Amino acid sequence: MEIKKVVIIGSGTMGSGIAAHLCNANIPVTLLDLKTDISLAARENIYKSRPPLLIDKTKIENIKVGNINDNFDAVKDADWIVEAVVERIDIKHNIYEKIFKNRKPGAIVSSNTSSIPIKVLSEKMSDSEKKDFCITHFFNPVRYMGLLEIVKNENNDLNKINSLKRFCEIELGKGAIVCNDTPGFLGNRIGVYAMQVAMTEAIKMKLSIEEADAVFGRPMGIPKTGVFGLYDLIGIDLMADVLKSFIKELPKTDNFQIVAKEIPLVTKLIENGYTGRKGKGGFYRINKINSQKTLEAINLETGEYSTKKKIDLGIETVDLNKLIDRNDKYGKYAWSIISKIIKYASSLVPGITDKFNDIDEAMRLGFNWSMGPFEMLKSIGVKKFFKKIDNYSENQFLENLSIKKDDNFYGERQLYTEIETLAKIRPKAIKTDKNKSAEIHRFKEFNIVEFTTKACALDYDSMDALKNATDKPLIIINESMQFSAGVNLTYTMNFADKGDFKSIEKFIKYFQETCKHLKYSDYPVISAPSGLVLGGGEEVAIQSNFIVSHTNIVMGLVETIVGLVPAGGGCKEVLWRWSQTKEAKEDPDYASLKVFDIIGYAKTATSPIEAEPLKFLRPEDKKIMNRNSLFEESKKIIDENKDFKPPKPCTFNLSGKPLKEKMIKILEKLYNDKVILEHGMEVGKELATVLSGGDTTIDKLLTEDDLYQLELNSFMRLIQSKKTQERIKHTLSTGKPLIN
Ligand code: NAD
Repeated sequence: MEIKKVVIIGSGTMGSGIAAHLCNANIPVTLLDLKTDISLAARENIYKSRPPLLIDKTKIENIKVGNINDNFDAVKDADWIVEAVVERIDIKHNIYEKIFKNRKPGAIVSSNTSSIPIKVLSEKMSDSEKKDFCITHFFNPVRYMGLLEIVKNENNDLNKINSLKRFCEIELGKGAIVCNDTPGFLGNRIGVYAMQVAMTEAIKMKLSIEEADAVFGRPMGIPKTGVFGLYDLIGIDLMADVLKSFIKELPKTDNFQIVAKEIPLVTKLIENGYTGRKGKGGFYRINKINSQKTLEAINLETGEYSTKKKIDLGIETVDLNKLIDRNDKYGKYAWSIISKIIKYASSLVPGITDKFNDIDEAMRLGFNWSMGPFEMLKSIGVKKFFKKIDNYSENQFLENLSIKKDDNFYGERQLYTEIETLAKIRPKAIKTDKNKSAEIHRFKEFNIVEFTTKACALDYDSMDALKNATDKPLIIINESMQFSAGVNLTYTMNFADKGDFKSIEKFIKYFQETCKHLKYSDYPVISAPSGLVLGGGEEVAIQSNFIVSHTNIVMGLVETIVGLVPAGGGCKEVLWRWSQTKEAKEDPDYASLKVFDIIGYAKTATSPIEAEPLKFLRPEDKKIMNRNSLFEESKKIIDENKDFKPPKPCTFNLSGKPLKEKMIKILEKLYNDKVILEHGMEVGKELATVLSGGDTTIDKLLTEDDLYQLELNSFMRLIQSKKTQERIKHTLSTGKPLIN
């Protein structure tokens, strides 16, 4: 079975997200709705979406639009028809009848329903129709969420389901997990339960929403939106509908019912239009006081808002034990929710799936948790868990485990895929080194470095790990959300605050030395990024010999935003790439002026397709839809490069002073047009110094070391500027750049 054409019916949030993602996979797709105006507007929204649903915006026309009356013929030659209309069974039944009358024999028909059982969806279908019908439950936003749940019915042609699964895995890059026909399938059943537990326990234990979000967040390996932030993001009204559907579908005895009860404050918020970020605000809201925007948080008891308070638990990375061992309200709250989530998830095995492992993977892929309930249990430790836990009768999974007390109950990860992933090989590799920022694993004849800090921010230890790992071919890869958000600015500012600029200089020099080492070591170095590849993260990636990039990346040298210039070889490497172009051979200033524009404006690419024209990626760098395949593809490069030779060192002829003057003219215009202010001028001039080659002339040959030195000098001057320090501190405390 080949899928070459797809029709999607319903062009709302999900239909348009699925259409955009098929377009990302170069599959022609037609999007139908009640009226063409609706699907046309949906296509415009896809184009404007942020973060972008499209990997390559120029492909938007590959999504054809129409309406279900005039354009239904599109169904006739589709290989797969996806129904993504409103969650109403009568409407869905009518659509299936029409689809089955028109589809070509054997074409797959699937529904994106989140809550209607397949039994009910297919009740009016003939057996031969049921053979080709299943649920394909995508998550929002489709491009970015890894999970796809596939639900079969008993009549399915299993070969067809398997090839659909493979298509979704390889072409669409999804973690496709086949699960049973139970309410909410895997992801939402556990994910929504977890959110409700976190909310109801916070109310019961009188925690503020900021406190609850601080616990049910990073320290638990859960995205920092926490529970109340996530509620606002999804939509408080939508969550209320989801809960109603669970209450209706689940047995009265299901423990979900206890946490799904209506909460008066939530009802009041919805009634008053506080439906979350899309409405007037929700648990959090932005309030304008004297034209100043302030983020406020609701008081769960009084319903009143006050300025959001920052809660610092002093736990930087995921650490369940540190959290539950605390003797304060945070520790009690954490244990209460973690134990309930573990109890609930394990009580559902084998009902919702016979593989508990799939539940964990669904939580990773569908909710971006860094571990699922069973991995939480493993991380707490079986013995400790049973010492702390109260009643777990009627929970077959826990009863069995309590008898065996087997710490190795878990087994291999990611059973849902046949791809050889990083998670699967990690336990088979030898951990050769570990410091506070990275881990080195030796697997067969090569090394793997995984950054382990928050957002994989880089410091001296990260560089140490990289440098020590170049004694073999090296793959730089990780499973966290980001490849690396750049140099750890807190680390840098700690030195700056003490006036210890010597240590900063030492660090930057070591950063440069390491990147040079990555580029010229005797063995191939491969970076396999996904997520943020910013600043220092990009410098590591582009000075590796090969890149295997996930299609979901955000890549850029964004240092100027905080008043700095790239100093780990970023200016140098991108300049060299631009200096290899035809235009640069004709005009010696072409490359420098291009890079001045790219780095000066801190241009970022939101996909490999956008990264290539900026020369952050090269045509030969691999672009991969399925994040799980990054490791396998990197390994292939090692196998193909047994006779690897490091690249030839590069040299530069730069014009020096006259080129710098050209750049300063550009800056002056921007300053006069009020696009940049004085500090912007200062940063721009430093960038100009680096990219013009400093005190040089066109006939002088500059080495990479000369360029590294220029980057270092400019960086050191800027980091000592009070204005740059102010910018960095502002970004660190608010997560946003300082605009002035
Ligand atoms: P939506 O309300 O955003 O869009 C539904 C679309 O269906 C609308 O554009 C509407 O005009 C169209 N429609 C209604 N009747 C139609 C008909 N007879 N023919 C053609 N089009 C028709 O809804 P959504 O959020 O995109 O949800 C679609 C499906 O996906 C639902 O089954 C929902 O349960 C499921 N789902 C939603 C999410 C989510 O986060 N929104 C996630 C997973 C699954």
